[in-house]
Amino acid sequence: MKSTVFGLLVLLSAVTGCRSMPEPLKLQAVSVARVVELARPKGLVPVQSGDSTIRVDLRYATPDNVFKQVLYPSGFPALTAAATAKKLVAANRFLKAHGLGLKVLDAYRPPEVQWQLFQKYQDDRYVADPRKKWSKHCYGRAVDATLVDLAGREQEMPSSFDDFSKKAAAAYTGPDAAVRHRLALLQRAMTTAGLSLYQDEWWHFNDLSDPAALSGQPVFGKEIGL
Ligand SMILES: [Zn+2]
Repeated sequence: MKSTVFGLLVLLSAVTGCRSMPEPLKLQAVSVARVVELARPKGLVPVQSGDSTIRVDLRYATPDNVFKQVLYPSGFPALTAAATAKKLVAANRFLKAHGLGLKVLDAYRPPEVQWQLFQKYQDDRYVADPRKKWSKHCYGRAVDATLVDLAGREQEMPSSFDDFSKKAAAAYTGPDAAVRHRLALLQRAMTTAGLSLYQDEWWHFNDLSDPAALSGQPVFGKEIGL
C-alpha cells in the first residue's frame, strides 16, 4: 500500500514538475477599477491606457476561443507591462497611417489560466509549459493581436486565433496577396515598435526588451483581485 502511495507521489511530481500549480481563477465578475489599482504596483497597466482607440477582445473572457470555455472573470481588463503598453501605442499609430488598427486578443494572462490552458493543450510550441517556464503572457510581456479597419471590423488574416496548425506560422505561405500584405503591415508595426515575432503564431508578439523582467515569479491573478 505504502509503495502505491509513493508511486502516486512520484507520478504526481513528474506531472507537476514538483512545483505546486495554482488553482483556476474564480469566475465571478471583478471590479475593473480594483484590478487596475492592484495591478499598477506590479507594473501592469491597461493596454488602452496610452491609446483608447486600441481595441480589446479578450477571447478567454468569452466562450469564443479554441477551448470554447470562459477562463477569465468577467470585467477582467487587458493588461500589459507599462513598457509593452507604450510599444502598442506606437504600433497602433503606425497602423492608423495605413487605415488599420490593433485589436488585442490576449495580453497579461494570469498563471492560473496558463496552467489550465497547458492542461488542455500540451504542446509547448503553442502553449508554454509552466513546469519549464511561464509564458511571457504571465509577465504582461506578450500580446496576441490582430488587425481591424478604422471602423473596428476584423480583417482576414492567415488563420483564426489559436489555430494550432502550420497555418498559424508567422511566415505566411498561403496564396492570398491581401492577407500577405496585412500580415506584413502588422509585423512591421509591431517590430518597429520594439516587439518580436513568434515563428509559430502570427498573432503572438513578445516584448523582450527587459530580459530580467521575464525571470522569477510572474504576477498571479489572486494578487490583483482576480
Ligand atoms: Zn500569445
